[in-house]
Amino acid sequence: MDLPQLAGSSADVRLLPPSTSARRTDVAVVGGGVIGLSTALELATRDQRVTVIDPHPAGGASWVAGGMLGATLETGFAEVDDVELHLAARQAWEPFLELLNAGRAAPVSMSQGGTFLLGADASDARELDRLTGFMASVGLEVARCDPSELDEQVPGLSPGIRAGFHVPGDPSVDNRQVMVALLERCQEASVQFIAATATSMRRSGDWLEGIELDDGTTLRTGAAVLATGAVDTAGLGPHDAPAIRPVKGTIVRLGPRRGPILDVVLRGLVRGRMCYLVPRPDGCLAIGATTEERGYDTSVDALSVFSLLEDARALLPGIDDLEFLEASSGLRPATTDHRPVVCASTVRGLVFNLGHYRNGFLMAPLAAQSVAELLEGRRAHPGFEGKER
Ligand SMILES: Cc1cc2nc3c(=O)[nH]c(=O)nc-3n(C[C@H](O)[C@H](O)[C@H](O)COP(=O)(O)OP(=O)(O)OC[C@H]3O[C@@H](n4cnc5c(N)ncnc54)[C@H](O)[C@@H]3O)c2cc1C
Repeated sequence: MDLPQLAGSSADVRLLPPSTSARRTDVAVVGGGVIGLSTALELATRDQRVTVIDPHPAGGASWVAGGMLGATLETGFAEVDDVELHLAARQAWEPFLELLNAGRAAPVSMSQGGTFLLGADASDARELDRLTGFMASVGLEVARCDPSELDEQVPGLSPGIRAGFHVPGDPSVDNRQVMVALLERCQEASVQFIAATATSMRRSGDWLEGIELDDGTTLRTGAAVLATGAVDTAGLGPHDAPAIRPVKGTIVRLGPRRGPILDVVLRGLVRGRMCYLVPRPDGCLAIGATTEERGYDTSVDALSVFSLLEDARALLPGIDDLEFLEASSGLRPATTDHRPVVCASTVRGLVFNLGHYRNGFLMAPLAAQSVAELLEGRRAHPGFEGKER
C-alpha cells in the first residue's frame, strides 16, 4: 500500500492516510491542499462517499502559507467588490474550527488580538493612511493607534515606526496544524485517498463518468471537484477550466530561544514593501512573503530571504535572537483577475474550486460549503457568482 508524502515534514508521515484501492466513489476531489481537503470534509459530513486524489496531499502552497485570515487587509482597492465575500469567509471559520476540533486532544486555535498594520517610514505611513481610509469607507474595521497604545499592545516594536493601526477582524491559524487536522478529520469521516495524479476526465456526452489516473486505472464517479491549486488543469479535459498561473511566494520560519516574542499578527509596509510576521502557538514566527512571477519555480533564493529578514527586523528588532528554522516557497494559484473560481463546469457533475490566490486559507471553509451546495443543485455563495462561465 503506497503512502502519500506530506511535503516538508517526513516526521509527519505517520499522520498520512493510507491509499485506498476503491475505484468507485460518490464524489472525487482532485487535489488535497487546504481547498480540496476542506471540500472533502464538508462533503463527507453531508453523507457523501468521498475520494481525494493527490500524490502528495497536505503539501502544495497550503503547507507553505502564512495562515492569516485577512478578511480586512486582503481587501485592497482592487478587491472593492469582494468585501462581503471576505467577511462571509472569515465568519465561516468559527463553525469550521468546531468541525475540525471535534474530539481533538490538541485543538487548532485561532489567534486572538487581530492584526497590527504598521508603516515604517513617512512615505509608508502616508500610503497606509490612503489604504485604511478606503477600508473604513467600505465598512471594514480599522482603528488608528497612537504611539503609546502601540507600544503597550505590541512590546518590542522598533521605536522608529511612523504609523500603526489595529485591525481586530483579521486573526491567523497555524497552516500546518490545520492541514494535519484536516487529514485526520477526513480519515475519521471515512474519506478515501488515492496517491496518484489525475490525468483526464472520462465522459459520456456532457456527463462526467470518471477520472483517469496516472497509474492506468479509472476512478468511476458522476461527481468531481477540481481543487488542483496552481497546477495547470488544461490537460485534464474541461474546456472551460479557468486559466491559472502560479505566483511564487517565499516565507521564512524562525523559532524561539527563550519563549515567544510576539502574540499578535504584524503586517508592515517597509520602504514600500509589504511584510508580515505571524506568530504560531509554539512560539515560532512565520515571516512572509515575496510575490514573484517565476512560473513553476519553487527554489528559494538568497535575496528573498535577506529582504524578508531585513524588513521584519525593521518592525521587530528582537527577531535577531531567534533561531533560523526554514525558508520555503510555494505557488499561489492565481486567475487573470485574481478572483476565485467556485462554480459548476459545463461538464455535468464537475465543479471548480480553484484560483484562491493569496486567500486559500481565508476562503477554504466557505468555498467548501459552496461546492457542496452546487453539487446538491443549489447556488454557491453570491460572492462567488461573478465568475459563472
Ligand atoms: C508564501 C505564501 C503565503 C501565503 N499566505 C497565505 C495566508 O496567510 N492566508 C491565506 O489565506 N492564504 C495564503 N496563501 C495562499 C494559500 O496558501 C493558497 O491560496 C492555498 O494554499 C491554495 O490551496 P489549494 O488547495 O488550492 O492548492 P495547494 O495547496 O497548492 O494544493 C493543490 C494540490 O493539488 C494537487 N494536484 C495538482 N494537480 C493534481 C492532479 N492532476 N492530480 C492530483 N492532484 C493534483 C497537488 O499535489 C497539491 O497537493 C499563501 C501562499 C503562499 C505561497
